[in-house]
Amino acid sequence: MISLKDVYLSLGLGQSRVDILRGIDLDIERGQSVGLVGPSGSGKSTLLMVMAGLERADRGQVLVERNDLLGMNEDDLARFRGARIGIIFQSFHLVPTMTALENTAIPLELAGQRDAFEIAKGELEAVGLGHRTHHYPAELSGGEQQRVAIARALAPRPSILIADEPTGNLDSDTGREISDLMFRLHKERAMTLMLVTHDANLADRCERVVRLRSGQLVESPHEVPASEPTSRSS
Ligand code: ADP
Ligand code: MG
Repeated sequence: MISLKDVYLSLGLGQSRVDILRGIDLDIERGQSVGLVGPSGSGKSTLLMVMAGLERADRGQVLVERNDLLGMNEDDLARFRGARIGIIFQSFHLVPTMTALENTAIPLELAGQRDAFEIAKGELEAVGLGHRTHHYPAELSGGEQQRVAIARALAPRPSILIADEPTGNLDSDTGREISDLMFRLHKERAMTLMLVTHDANLADRCERVVRLRSGQLVESPHEVPASEPTSRSS
């Protein structure tokens, strides 16, 4: 479970200092899917980074599966991220000089995992790219690149998947395929899913929708209790 209490964060120096998060309270149950929506610049990406331990809140409390992120040092945070958190972005962020297989193996190798390439191959198969293991990012379509990014994010078997506008660079059909894949893996692997999107239909596939405005949460339009059947797709 993820629990944020009274979280504040400002970034930038001097004149360009911005109060980005202004008193965030948010509790997310383990395994829940949460859509995070709000205008551009409202702090969505920053909130994801705080949950992932990539940005440190100025004050408040950030608990992620019993880990008190603000109390952890950088080494512990890095270990925590590597083991528990998978992140995918709008622009894929693959290493251009590495094949799909090498990209997918990165987090496994960083964790010193044996059989990193064998596991990576299995992860590529799980996202439907078993036939593209030796392709470089430039030789793959946008949808295929995002599949590699998903395989890489999920290879360490994280308990939380964080997705920042994962379909933002894809056409609608491809975006739909990537969303289907993401929600399927979220279910199969019982991961918590935090999804930022501008696509209302995509947000509505989440069990819960949370809205940010100028760094503060506002009431969500719908909230499905976790005990109810959660799949709104198909
Ligand atoms: P969103 O993802 O909702 O579009 P962001 O979290 O990316 O919003 O950014 C929220 C606000 O914080 C924006 O006004 C942005 O310009 C500002 N911001 C983000 N990162 C920094 C930074 N490192 N320094 C200063 N301002 C920043
Ligand atoms: Mg953003």
